Amino acid sequence: MLDKKNFYINGQWVSPKIPNDYKVIDPSTEEECAVISLGGAEDINDAVNSATKAFETWAFSTKEERLKYLENLYEVYKKRWADMAKAISLEMGSPIDFSTQLQAGTGASHIKSYIKVLKEYTFEEKLGPHALNNNIIHEPKGVCALITPWNWPMNQVCLKVIPAIAAGCTMILKPSEIAPLSSIILAEMIDEIKLPKGVFNLVNGDGAITGNALTSHPDVNMVSFTGSTRAGALISQNAASDFKRVSLELGGKGANIIFKDADPEAVERGALRCFRNSGQSCNAPTRMLVEKSIYEETVERVKNFANSMKVDVATKEGDHIGPVVSKTQFDKIQALIQIGIDEGAKLVAGGTGKPEGLDKGYFVKPTAFADVNNKMQIARTEIFGPVLSIIPFETEEEAIEIANDTPYGLLNFIQTQDQEKANRVARKLRSGMVDINGAGLAPDAPFGGYKHSGIGREAGKLGLEEYLEVKVVSGWND
Ligand code: NAD
Repeated sequence: MLDKKNFYINGQWVSPKIPNDYKVIDPSTEEECAVISLGGAEDINDAVNSATKAFETWAFSTKEERLKYLENLYEVYKKRWADMAKAISLEMGSPIDFSTQLQAGTGASHIKSYIKVLKEYTFEEKLGPHALNNNIIHEPKGVCALITPWNWPMNQVCLKVIPAIAAGCTMILKPSEIAPLSSIILAEMIDEIKLPKGVFNLVNGDGAITGNALTSHPDVNMVSFTGSTRAGALISQNAASDFKRVSLELGGKGANIIFKDADPEAVERGALRCFRNSGQSCNAPTRMLVEKSIYEETVERVKNFANSMKVDVATKEGDHIGPVVSKTQFDKIQALIQIGIDEGAKLVAGGTGKPEGLDKGYFVKPTAFADVNNKMQIARTEIFGPVLSIIPFETEEEAIEIANDTPYGLLNFIQTQDQEKANRVARKLRSGMVDINGAGLAPDAPFGGYKHSGIGREAGKLGLEEYLEVKVVSGWND
């Protein structure tokens, strides 16, 4: 079992002030694979003090210095790519090929993308020719608390740590206690590039104690959080008393509108996008809205696709899906599948219980429900498992209405070969992102949601600006 009990504070690996061991479970085997510590208020205090001290000089580092560190980090990341993929696979059950290409791949992609964004970013500009002595300066926000979940661990961590470094902020990262191993590797990489002491600190821990100590610390200037809507609301309340900036990337219940003129791969592409990563993606299209005239054949195609999906352990190579992350998630998903059956939705694939031959590990059968009504709980709750709800619609207006009838607004999908219709519908969807015909977002496209899906944007120029303050100085002359 791996011993990963130390925290990374002020450029050193240190033991927790009060030992509080926490076992990391391999979801493929249900066995303990590592032990970490859960940090307390004193550990958080040390990390915040170190970040506060480091900010005094790091805030005035040049763009060129910061670029150099990020370029070095990118090289080290590529060198340790395989270690990163293995760690993610172990901690959250992502099959090794998926983990290598996508899970670890997104981390590298964000570092590369932010190097470009930083190169192109102008930190100082004039208000305009009418006011040349009004100088706008984009300054780093300060000490940032970065709190991340377990489902796309390096994606979410790099979407916060990298722009924070690029902006000149200092930070305390608290990754998910369920999947902390990938962040420990990132801390090792940051140590290797010799980022100035205290700029990056890592304290492991849970939400109730460690996360709470971090978000309520008076010297923290900003909290960037990805995770559940429940925790997002608690964090916002904590941050309100001293007006910390809060950036939230929360849940989703994406609609995938399949019109009768959708391209031939649209249905399977949509089902795969729902099931991959074992359904544990906030931006997954978990509600498939299907035009009535192609409804029956689409249900049949989804059924065949779900039944053909392989489920297996994370260490095995191949294009199967792995287990879900924990027993808690497994139980929650099983309960929601049962609720779907009890609500009267038609189970067309999967169902409760584990897939055949996989008695150990948190494995869930790829599950599809047809004849779902958007008022049903399975259509409203973010299940976070490989469960797809198929909902029929008759008109374009009805499809838009169903898609928008959710507390969330993260990513919606449209499938039609009529580009004009696609653009028209995209404008009417209340979500931060819309994908037409599987086009995919560029790495620097703004990622984030409307409504209960969050506040703020990650990635690209807007993602960098989350970590910046705006100062205007009049009477400036240069
Ligand atoms: P969570 O929101 O409880 O945990 C995410 C992170 O926040 C972890 O690091 C956790 O320690 C921390 N945290 C939790 N409560 C906190 C608090 N009060 N203050 C500060 N930090 C806190 O998510 P979870 O329990 O791991 O998963 C529960 C549900 O959340 C899932 O079923 C899923 O629906 C949703 N979820 C969404 C995303 C997403 O990307 N949008 C990611 C993970 C989970």
